[in-house]
Amino acid sequence: MARRIGICRALHAYHHFAFWRTFFTEMGWEVVLSEPTSRPVLELGVRLSPAELCLPVKAFLGHVAALKDRVDALFLPRIVCTRVAGDWFFGCPKAIALPDLTRAVFDSLPLIVEPVLDKQILTEEQSFRNAIPGRNSRSHVRKALRLANAAATDAALRTRAEGLPLHMFSDQGTKGEGQRTGDGRPAVRVGVVGHSYLLFDSGLNLGVLDKVREAGAEPTVVFPTAVEVEMESTRDNALNWYYELELLAAAHRLLEVERVDGLLLVASFACGTGAVTNELIQRAAVHRHGVPTVMLLMDEHTGEAGIVTRIESFVDLLRLRKR
Ligand code: SF4
Repeated sequence: MARRIGICRALHAYHHFAFWRTFFTEMGWEVVLSEPTSRPVLELGVRLSPAELCLPVKAFLGHVAALKDRVDALFLPRIVCTRVAGDWFFGCPKAIALPDLTRAVFDSLPLIVEPVLDKQILTEEQSFRNAIPGRNSRSHVRKALRLANAAATDAALRTRAEGLPLHMFSDQGTKGEGQRTGDGRPAVRVGVVGHSYLLFDSGLNLGVLDKVREAGAEPTVVFPTAVEVEMESTRDNALNWYYELELLAAAHRLLEVERVDGLLLVASFACGTGAVTNELIQRAAVHRHGVPTVMLLMDEHTGEAGIVTRIESFVDLLRLRKR
């Protein structure tokens, strides 16, 4: 019988699930994905977490709690460092420390499968071979990685074409229409920027994309290409955090190519990297492009009424500016 490996539907699963699922399936594991974030799962994560953690990490711990007794092993990658255009870029410190944090929070855990994804010191093959238990031939691991990389490429292409990360984690489409003008153009277009694990987890963001639509505007989310991220990495004073490069690339495309009317930044309270990234995005939007921005800082106390009010007033403001 296949051993069962649990993957939390949280954090970087929103980026890499296609890769991880394909790799473990090919290696003979049954992949068990945790359920979508519910209020009880989030509350459990909040209870288990030190207060200073960001909302997505608190939710991650809730997913661990919900999954850990149903599986033989738990996948807990340590995402440290990757190379872009000849330079090194890092995961956020909280994500790097995720396996340590998880071990510190839980008294009992199943076997932990923890590849250290640090391309400065390990190839992808070494990272995964070191992490998976049992005797696994080099050729089998290589084949699984080859298939996993192909699945990741396919998922990235479909994500950009269909507007959903990995086509499975969200019930909030990024496509869809708000109110239209007489000539058929959208009345107001709001570019929305945020980490996928926040933007597409409606258990965390209270359905923010739908709320933009309900306010009569069209939410626009873009998924940057590898080339756009590479361009971002070569700018003067580029940030050294890989996933933040993606946010900056998305914001630049929304401002320069999509020419949205306003930018809505969806971020987590207590996110250290986001504090820097969002400041850079706001400066670019307001000072270089004259585009208004608003930031929604999410935590476990964020209420739906407050979000609706802020989105509605932002859309009203954008509508007034277009008159
Ligand atoms: S980037 Fe921010 S929101 Fe994401 S895990 Fe790190 S601290 Fe949390």
